[in-house]
Amino acid sequence: MTGAREAMLDRPGLERLFEGLKAEGRTLVGPTVRDGAIIYDVLAGVASLPQGWRDEQAPGSYRLHRQAGDPRLFDHTVGAHSWKRFLHPPRESLFRVTRTPEGTLRFDSLTAEPRRLALIGARACELAALAIQDRVLGTGTQADHAYQARRAGLFIVAVQCGRAGGTCFCADMGTGPRAETGFDLALTEILDSDGNVGWYVESGSDQGAKLLSHLQMLPAQSADREAAAAVWASTRAQMASRMDPAGLHELLDEKLEDPHWETLESRCLACGNCTAVCPTCYCTRTVDQADLEDAVAERSREWESCFNPEFSHLPGGSVRGSIASRYRQWLTHKLASWHDQFDSSGCVGCGRCISWCPVGIDITAEIAALRATPAPYPDAASESDHGHP
Ligand code: SF4
Ligand code: SF4
Repeated sequence: MTGAREAMLDRPGLERLFEGLKAEGRTLVGPTVRDGAIIYDVLAGVASLPQGWRDEQAPGSYRLHRQAGDPRLFDHTVGAHSWKRFLHPPRESLFRVTRTPEGTLRFDSLTAEPRRLALIGARACELAALAIQDRVLGTGTQADHAYQARRAGLFIVAVQCGRAGGTCFCADMGTGPRAETGFDLALTEILDSDGNVGWYVESGSDQGAKLLSHLQMLPAQSADREAAAAVWASTRAQMASRMDPAGLHELLDEKLEDPHWETLESRCLACGNCTAVCPTCYCTRTVDQADLEDAVAERSREWESCFNPEFSHLPGGSVRGSIASRYRQWLTHKLASWHDQFDSSGCVGCGRCISWCPVGIDITAEIAALRATPAPYPDAASESDHGHP
């Protein structure tokens, strides 16, 4: 790697970093407060970040509190938004068809030129989710060209988590809490005993190291490095274990006909929140809309959810008619058959689906409940459908 490998930033230094990214023609996107939550949106600068805001999360619960006078900018954990909204947007226009006065049809592409983005504040679990999306959408014969184009120009400024969120379990899934790869720069926010805040920054790529050198930041001292290491260790120590990942594939294969799934029928609303907030869920549907005169039609692509009965509709009806069967499909795909398809888990332990489920269904509690029941149908794995939708 050429260029600077580490540095220490004060607030003007962070502002210079943001200006340096903008000078490269990048749009900054990152955390900001809106409507009582921290969301990801375009940032005008450092002042757009959620200074002093802290989230409290639990199953079915997300609350934001402001801590007066707190200079920290990243003392929150992940919210409902994930970076997939920029790389694999919720709605994307594909093309328009127009009937011409001559009676022919004209097709116009609506695919926009991708912006050069800098992601500000990506956490370790989110980098793991990006790596999964890269495998699912960015490689192989089914690669999504729009995703590839957006991904190619990305600059990632990660932030090391300074505390564990109430529903996080990245340590269980081996994806955090410390980001070690997948970023251009990684910041660790350090609050000293006098209440001053600074950011220890490490480079993780040539483009990150070059930018650091170009901006002539303050060199990091060994005390800065030690303070950053103390933050990483403290976050790791706070992280409660919520789910044992060992043998999940075998467990779920064994429990496909477990009576526990039926309890989901009355608890789950099939609202699809969990799939919308999940940073690795990628399914879409294609939507055609025509005007009333049938002169112009537009095709777009929208996020789809496997909780929607139409998702598995085949001639004759929905393959997964019950809510219990849809929940089972979602969970077994995430934690079992995803391994067969993509060589990894489909879950990075971010906890979003737990916090944003309106009835507080907790994927880790469901696994614990399945582990606690005896396996009534040991041969079920060979008979049931639990593969990719
Ligand atoms: S399944 Fe839940 S915890 Fe796992 S990555 Fe998706 S939203 Fe996060
Ligand atoms: S598990 Fe929760 S978030 Fe997911 S579909 Fe059911 S009610 Fe909605």
